[in-house]
Amino acid sequence: MNKADPSTREMERITWMEFREWVPAKIKTVLLPLGTLEAHGVTANGTDIIAPVAMAKEIAARVSAMVAPVIPYGFTGILDAYPGSFTVPEEAYRVYVRAVLVGLARNKFKNIVMLNGHGGGQTAILSALAQEVGRETNARILVVNWWSFCSDITQDVFGQDGGHAAENETAYVMAIDPSLVRQEDYRPEMATAMPSPNTWSAYPFPSSIMLYKEGQGFPNFDLAQARTYFAKVNDKIARLIEETIKKWDLAGL
Ligand SMILES: [Zn+2]
Repeated sequence: MNKADPSTREMERITWMEFREWVPAKIKTVLLPLGTLEAHGVTANGTDIIAPVAMAKEIAARVSAMVAPVIPYGFTGILDAYPGSFTVPEEAYRVYVRAVLVGLARNKFKNIVMLNGHGGGQTAILSALAQEVGRETNARILVVNWWSFCSDITQDVFGQDGGHAAENETAYVMAIDPSLVRQEDYRPEMATAMPSPNTWSAYPFPSSIMLYKEGQGFPNFDLAQARTYFAKVNDKIARLIEETIKKWDLAGL
């Protein structure tokens, strides 16, 4: 075994004795994936779970981190009426995620990185919790909403903007496992442009493929492009984590 690395970076797979050896002496960072179950066009309902879990496993060694077990149930919102989708009440979600963050800090992680797979109200809750728990525990907490943070990569790889369950997210999942995407069920009319604020809203939203820009982001199911996108997104997220930690250290926080 290479002693530069623990036998596993997954917290549910490591023993307490090995964990003690590595955290916090040699590993100070933990990646916490958070998702939800929600309709995603022709991509698996667990896309928001599967994407950040894959991301965490992919970048953990690069950013010298452990990976915490995913928090799969989330605060879904306007798509929870679709079959197989699921939401938990905001209050319950907030208290539960808060307890997980405090638990990670008590396990002596100095840096907690929430890899969030789901937007909307969940993003707001996680940002608020980062501040609250950061103040309370002295852990340094970063929340990453990958699809937003990597919108430049979406432009770069696909030449246009993406969306929810659109080209970008579908590609990311396809790169993880093509069998999670059912191209044969896809029709372009399954997509709707997301309303800009205060123009209109609907519950349930009439499409689970939600385009950020009218006419852009329809999935193209190109596996080679999907793999390029997956790699570039992971590189950018890993860079963000490394730079953020470096700057926290530099500032003496
Ligand atoms: Zn999603």
